[in-house]
Amino acid sequence: MGTIAVVGASLSGLHAAEALRAGAAGAPGYEGEVVVLDASPTLPPDRPPLSKQVLAGEWELAQAKVPLADRLGELDLDLRLGTTATWLGPDGGDGRTLGLDDGTELQVEGVVLATGAAVRHLPGPPLGGVHAIRTGEDAVALCADLDAGPSRVVVVGAGFIGAEAAATCRGRGLEVTMLEAASTPMVRVLPPEVGAFVADLHRDQGVDVRLGTGVERLEAGADGRVRAVHLADGSVVEADVVVVGIGVVPQTGWLEGSGLQLGDGVVCDGTMLAGPRVVACGDVARWPNPHFGEEMRVEHWENAVEQGGHAGRRLLDELAGRPGTPFGPVPWFWSDQYDRKIQLAGRPAATDEFVLVDGTVEERRFAALFRRGDRCTAVLGVNRPRHVMQARMQLAESLAWDAVAARFAPTD
Ligand SMILES: Cc1cc2nc3c(=O)[nH]c(=O)nc-3n(C[C@H](O)[C@H](O)[C@H](O)COP(=O)(O)OP(=O)(O)OC[C@H]3O[C@@H](n4cnc5c(N)ncnc54)[C@H](O)[C@@H]3O)c2cc1C
Repeated sequence: MGTIAVVGASLSGLHAAEALRAGAAGAPGYEGEVVVLDASPTLPPDRPPLSKQVLAGEWELAQAKVPLADRLGELDLDLRLGTTATWLGPDGGDGRTLGLDDGTELQVEGVVLATGAAVRHLPGPPLGGVHAIRTGEDAVALCADLDAGPSRVVVVGAGFIGAEAAATCRGRGLEVTMLEAASTPMVRVLPPEVGAFVADLHRDQGVDVRLGTGVERLEAGADGRVRAVHLADGSVVEADVVVVGIGVVPQTGWLEGSGLQLGDGVVCDGTMLAGPRVVACGDVARWPNPHFGEEMRVEHWENAVEQGGHAGRRLLDELAGRPGTPFGPVPWFWSDQYDRKIQLAGRPAATDEFVLVDGTVEERRFAALFRRGDRCTAVLGVNRPRHVMQARMQLAESLAWDAVAARFAPTD
């Protein structure tokens, strides 16, 4: 009986492990050993609540559980927490060797790569009071600093994680400055109307939003804690706590020498196969999504769940010599900021046309479609879940602009 290793015991890795045991359509589940590793000494938390309920102080960290956390016993896994995979050998024809940081070398007939992404840091030495939000420890450490009642919080980066952190800190009654190097939040990936809306949403709530100015350096006090942020335009913002949300990097460094193609993630084919007997899923995986005809890497919760399951089944197909099926979802995610639920389905680009189909941006309650020629690439809703759901279902059928827009045509 062989062994499959799943590297990463977070959302996508656990869903892959579940699929390995459950089996593919008409085919039995894997009966060999399934070793699931994670560098984290404890089971990784469900990450979305970290910047929401946990940061707000409404939930204990233990409440942020990934959906499968309570069912792991049923899956008969060899779960090795606090264990880091340090190298993966090239394909030997009938399997590979996986090297672990405790010196163990595992002979495996299949591998699931689910190592996610790690946060980017600002240059310079670590300082007290400066936080990122990715792990449970990150969230607990930031909460402790917020509980101490800082007078000024600075959030660096106005992407979705930074914006959620800013909203949650405002919800705690703290003074918040949000800094963004670009002229508009998220302008590299979304039409400018979206970033302008996010900036205004935060200004409405009293956040000091400063755009188009990068961080030059952080200044520390004699106690080794941050006390100010120096900006590229020469201004200085006082800070007791700094939250850095400037994006993530897929965790692939340890795979150099594996023979796999790496490049902003583990590069897979359209079925999530990265190489012989190796699949990848979740935040670390890059693949050509056949529905959009575009290569993508998606950092969303639901993608990690669905792609994890797909990757597990794909590995079973690979071991049985069956061809895999393509993975072509409509990516979807949500973000909670103040009393607004922002939902986005699809794959927009910064240059897509922003077409309002319901509500108004001014009342901070609207639905908009994104158009690229004769295609609808995405839908965005702010407190408009029904519109997003409708458009998402249509996008799953076809990206044709006329078909999606027709769903929102006024009726007499
Ligand atoms: C604060 C926060 C809020 C979010 N909010 C939302 C939201 O509102 N909506 C939404 O759609 N998405 C949200 N997301 C994104 C979502 O949580 C991620 O897409 C999801 O966690 C990805 O899961 P994953 O399993 O691919 O990777 P990860 O969750 O990153 O897990 C990867 C795991 O691999 C382990 N690992 C890495 N390298 C190794 C190694 N060499 N050996 C062993 N283990 C290793 C890591 O320790 C980690 O536990 C949020 C993310 C964060 C951080």
